[in-house]
Amino acid sequence: MKIVVLKFGGTSVGSIDRIKKVADLIINYTKKRYKVIVVSSAMSGATNDLVNKSKKISNNFSNEEYDVLVSSGEQVACALIAGRLIHKGYNSRSWMGWQIPIITNDKHKYSKISRVHRKNIIRYLKCGGIPIVAGFQGINTAERITTTGRGGSDSSAIMLAKFFKAQRCIIYTDVEGVYTTDPKKLKKAKKIRVISYEEMLEMASLGAKVMQPVSIQDARLSRIDIEVKSSFKKKSGTIITKRKNIINRSIITGISSTQNDAKVTLVGVKDRPGIAASIFKPLSESSINVDMVVQNISADGKETDLTFTIKNDDLNKTRKIINLNKNINFKKLLFDKNVSKVSIIGVGMITTPGVTYRMFQALANHKINIQVISTSEIKISVLIDKKNVNKAITALHKEFKLEA
Ligand code: ASP
Ligand code: MG
Repeated sequence: MKIVVLKFGGTSVGSIDRIKKVADLIINYTKKRYKVIVVSSAMSGATNDLVNKSKKISNNFSNEEYDVLVSSGEQVACALIAGRLIHKGYNSRSWMGWQIPIITNDKHKYSKISRVHRKNIIRYLKCGGIPIVAGFQGINTAERITTTGRGGSDSSAIMLAKFFKAQRCIIYTDVEGVYTTDPKKLKKAKKIRVISYEEMLEMASLGAKVMQPVSIQDARLSRIDIEVKSSFKKKSGTIITKRKNIINRSIITGISSTQNDAKVTLVGVKDRPGIAASIFKPLSESSINVDMVVQNISADGKETDLTFTIKNDDLNKTRKIINLNKNINFKKLLFDKNVSKVSIIGVGMITTPGVTYRMFQALANHKINIQVISTSEIKISVLIDKKNVNKAITALHKEFKLEA
C-alpha cells in the first residue's frame, strides 16, 4: 500500500472555504492512487479559545480536564473535512485518538505518543476509505484523553507516518516552507529546499514556528522524511531529511532570532567551587530554563560576574528565587529585557573553519556589540541589543550568501 500522511494546520482548516479546498487537495492524492491518512489540527484560534476558557474557570485548572477540553477543537475540524469528502461522493470518516487508539504515556498536557494501533485504519484504507484523524490527542493507559503539547498535531502526523510506514508525510501549513530567516524580518529570505533534522530542530527551537520542535526529533529518530508546504499555493516546499541525503549544501543553512529572552547578571559573586550549581539548582527545580551562560574568571580569585539568559516570562520567578537563595553572596542583581539571541545554523560549519570569525566580524562591521556567545556543533548564537536584530540578520544573511 502506497500510504501518504497529510497533516493540515489550523489556518489550512481555518474557515469553511478553506476546509472545502483541503478536501479537494485530499481528493487529488486519492486520484494519484495514494492511500491517504489525513491528520487535522483545530480551526485556527479554536485551541487558544479553549485554553482561555480553562483559565477563566480556574487558575489551577485540572490537567486531565485540560486535555479533554483543548482536544475538542480537532473533533470539529475532522468532522467537517470528512463531511465535505462524503458530500463529494467519497468514503470518509473521522477518528478521534481514543477510537484508533493512539496510545500515549500517562503525562497530561505534554504526552508522548508511544503506539498507534493499525488494525482498524488499515482495514478502512483497504476498503477505499479516507480516515480523518484528530491530531494533538491520544489516550493513556488509564483510558484518559491526553494531548501532545501545543502544536502537537505535528507529532501525531509523524507518529502515524511511522506506524503506518507511510511513503511520505506532508505538513500543510500557511507558509511555503522553511526560510533561511524570517521573511517578515528580511525580504530577501529564501525558501530552503532541503534541511537536515538537526538543523530544523535548531531552527524550530530557536523560534522558526513552522513545526513543533519535539515532532522533528520524533521524525529524526524514526528517519521519516517530511515535506512542509503551503496548502494555499501550488509550490514545492521544504524537505526535512537526514544529512546524508543533502548534497551541495552551503555553510550556513539558516539564521534565527528570538523575541522573548531576558538577561540576568549577578555582579560580584563570591567565587568558590559549587557556586554556579548553587545558583542554578533552585532555578531548575522551578522548571526555569536557563539558556546561555557566561562566567568571568575572577582576576583576584575572590569575586566574579555571572550572566545568563532565561525566558521573559520567568523573570519575576527568577528574581525571587535568587534573592531568597541563602547559599550565594553577590553585590548586585541586574535584569535586561532588551536583548535578543541571533543564531546561525548549519551542519556545514562542522567542516568549515573560520565561521565564528566571519560572524563576529560581520557584526563588528555594523557596530553591533556582542554580549554573550554560545555555540554547539552546528550553531553559533550571540546575544545582542534587541534594536539591532534586523541589522544583524541582514548582515549575516549577506555574509553567508544566503540570498544567492
Ligand atoms: N490545535 C492544537 C494547538 O493549537 C494542536 C496543533 O495545532 O497542532 O496547539
Ligand atoms: Mg499548528
